[in-house]
Amino acid sequence: MISKGLAIQDLRAGVPGREILKGITLSVEPGEVVAVMGPNGSGKSTLSNVIMGRAAYTVTSGSIKLDGVELTELQTHERAKAGVFLISQYPEELPGVTIDELLEAALVSDGVRTGGLGAMIEDQASKVGFPERLRDRFVNVDLSGGEKKRAEVVQMGILNPRFAVLDEIDSGLDIDALRAVAKRVREIVADSGTGVLVITHYARLLRELEPDRVLVLQDGQIKDEGDLELAVNLERTGYAEYLDSDPSSKSGSLEDLFRL
Ligand code: ADP
Ligand code: MG
Repeated sequence: MISKGLAIQDLRAGVPGREILKGITLSVEPGEVVAVMGPNGSGKSTLSNVIMGRAAYTVTSGSIKLDGVELTELQTHERAKAGVFLISQYPEELPGVTIDELLEAALVSDGVRTGGLGAMIEDQASKVGFPERLRDRFVNVDLSGGEKKRAEVVQMGILNPRFAVLDEIDSGLDIDALRAVAKRVREIVADSGTGVLVITHYARLLRELEPDRVLVLQDGQIKDEGDLELAVNLERTGYAEYLDSDPSSKSGSLEDLFRL
């Protein structure tokens, strides 16, 4: 039987000389929102990059399937075509490529008609409180951190992916923008049945998003699973109970300071 949605089985991956993900098993069904929390350096962004097939990372064992299709054998653009969408923690700038052009190319390659695309972009931009004309801006160029995340949610709403990873979309968003973005993500999930893996440090985003499950990643492994209450408790108490004697966690908290 082919299972629907994203299924990650025993995934080990890393960069040359270093294993970062140390055996991850998780699944996200269509229409599910699953949250991943965890200290800095635990491998959250690596997980999102490995799902997308970013070149810096190598999968050493395990599998990542979307609707039964093995993704680890596909190039990044083929994964995008298979329906995987990533909002990266640090969205890439594409000088010279407008949002309009990027979306048009993606839709054409999916065989979707692109009539009225410009108006659709502006309509969706206004829903996430994007203040000005978005369609002819270069992708992520001269946008603030929060504007980049909102512009990427606009793209997600137009592409209607099968599965999306949202890596810290709440960074740089004020309370109102956060609410608007969460509402929009929920609408996309409801309308398109998109499965979502949402990476965040903050329960306030999850209160808006109401995830089906909350996972805790530490040192490349899933150490805990719960519901929104787990996220709320973690925000209050931190990750001390998962950290025990792991020396790499110390650099995590230092990174925290510099990323603020
Ligand atoms: P998180 O998103 O949970 O903060 P990351 O996945 O960004 O963590 O990083 C996990 C660990 O892997 C960190 O120690 C980081 O320095 C390391 N790492 C991630 N990507 C690379 C890379 N491309 N090259 C070398 N080390 C990396
Ligand atoms: Mg990260």
